[in-house]
Amino acid sequence: MLPVITLVGRPNVGKSTLFNRLTRSRHALVADYPGLTRDRQYGVGQLGPRPYILVDTGGLSGSSDPLDMLTERQVRLAIAEADHLLFLVDARDGCLTGDFDIAAELRRTGKPLTLVVNKVDRLDASLVLPEFHTLGLGDPLPIAASHGRGLNTLLEHIFDAL
Ligand code: GDP
Ligand code: MG
Repeated sequence: MLPVITLVGRPNVGKSTLFNRLTRSRHALVADYPGLTRDRQYGVGQLGPRPYILVDTGGLSGSSDPLDMLTERQVRLAIAEADHLLFLVDARDGCLTGDFDIAAELRRTGKPLTLVVNKVDRLDASLVLPEFHTLGLGDPLPIAASHGRGLNTLLEHIFDAL
């Protein structure tokens, strides 16, 4: 079985941008994996010789809108089948209440997790990272998904933790 790495976070933090960067053969291998729910965005990525399954999810917005609640239900199913969670936050927004809510929920799952601070392009990582330590999820890793920055370091970190 390939490791399943799942992207979670508020809407608009850049989950789909990262997904598209990292996956080339969407829905390819994944079709052969029994037990994975089909109605989510799956892709296959590769770090050197090591392939992995990446799962994109809708945002956890914390809203009570019925459609958002359906989305969130899907996200929770995706979390349940993950081997490793990538919790994306937005360097431009800083640490928001919604991030603390998600952090608390993810911590309860007991799943291995990496905190990823996206959109550090044109920002000084050493200035934006410290506030994300307050989420209590360890050292945040800076990336810029739309520029491809920090992605290899991130993937190596995940594979070390698998
Ligand atoms: P999602 O809702 O979490 O899937 O977020 P999207 O991937 O749809 O991205 C939301 C917005 O953030 C889009 O306008 C992206 O172009 C933008 N975005 C994503 N990654 C980056 C980044 O690294 N830097 C900047 N400046 N913008 C980004
Ligand atoms: Mg998206």
